[in-house]
Amino acid sequence: MAEKALAAVRVAPGTTEIREFPMPDVPGDGALLRVEVAGICGTDVKMYAKPPFADPVIMGHENIGIIERSGPTFRERHGVEDGDRVFVEHYVGCYKCEWCRIGQYRHCENTDWRTNPDARRYGYTSSDKPGRLWGGFAQYMYLPWNAVLHRVPGTVTAELGGIVTPLSNGIEWALVDGGVGYDSTVLIQGPGQQGLSQVVACKQAGASLIVITGTARDKARLDLALALGADHVVDVTAGDPREQLRNITGGKGFDVVLDCTAGAGTAPVLLGIDVLKRREGTLLIQGELAAFPDFPVKKLTEKAITIKSARGHSFRSCELALAQLASHRFPLDELATHAYGLSDVDTAIRAVGGEIGEGVIHVSLLPWRDL
Ligand SMILES: [Zn+2]
Ligand SMILES: [Zn+2]
Repeated sequence: MAEKALAAVRVAPGTTEIREFPMPDVPGDGALLRVEVAGICGTDVKMYAKPPFADPVIMGHENIGIIERSGPTFRERHGVEDGDRVFVEHYVGCYKCEWCRIGQYRHCENTDWRTNPDARRYGYTSSDKPGRLWGGFAQYMYLPWNAVLHRVPGTVTAELGGIVTPLSNGIEWALVDGGVGYDSTVLIQGPGQQGLSQVVACKQAGASLIVITGTARDKARLDLALALGADHVVDVTAGDPREQLRNITGGKGFDVVLDCTAGAGTAPVLLGIDVLKRREGTLLIQGELAAFPDFPVKKLTEKAITIKSARGHSFRSCELALAQLASHRFPLDELATHAYGLSDVDTAIRAVGGEIGEGVIHVSLLPWRDL
């Protein structure tokens, strides 16, 4: 095995450098992952432009790879062997706190960089911290005892596996948070990798009406949404979509609205509130807006709307997402449109951000490509 590992390190806002790291020692309860694919999402675009904390950081928080070397305690605790392909969640919980104890380690202080400067989370933690290789934009990643692994089924290629994070978010947000199920009517706003994954989750769960919105630029994505099972697509740039959406639901409105526009301002939330059904609809939002002037609280209470916040995924959602990928029931591989090597991290992130590239949906970083 190599003595050194190459990694793309974010050294300043919008700046990446390839650096060489010594291979970390593998303790009896730890392991080393040979990274095959690191998915890139909108969060990377934001964190790349405006790092939330001090660099250097190896980004990459949606990681799949092969266990290269592991200690005996690690193998025993995780039920894995060297050579197994696994999906590694980005959360690294403490397993002592109340959240970890009920399986909600995504809320654990040990992995929450917002409140804990010493938090461990793949793609977020400084490469100055012990273990050093804390992100997937690298040939290898360090796995401590408390890494969370999921075995990747044999029929799922690494690149298809790159979809597991948006799909597990889709399952968590639509099904668990939104309560989408048999006969539900759902509006998904935004046909990016996240919105398209929600289409699949809702279809699999039995939703009877799935509508997805996009803009005039989203033609290819909206076509893919139809192929994945959406019933209607609506271009929000072609006039006010309210009437169109009301007509599609026969005037009833939607049971659930999922905002996957990430950064489109207040408009999707206001639209969502308006087109939810008359009473007790659910609106799922992402935390992009620091403030919301003139938020229509009155409408919200009159319609008895429940707002849920999108907050990552659970262990079960990841397992369900992997099973969904393994079933090959939906053409999800069509989401995997672009892949780049380690030296092109900057380009890859800009492609996700819409600055470059045509028809970009999901972008994979393949650390061993072009080497
Ligand atoms: Zn992500
Ligand atoms: Zn904890």
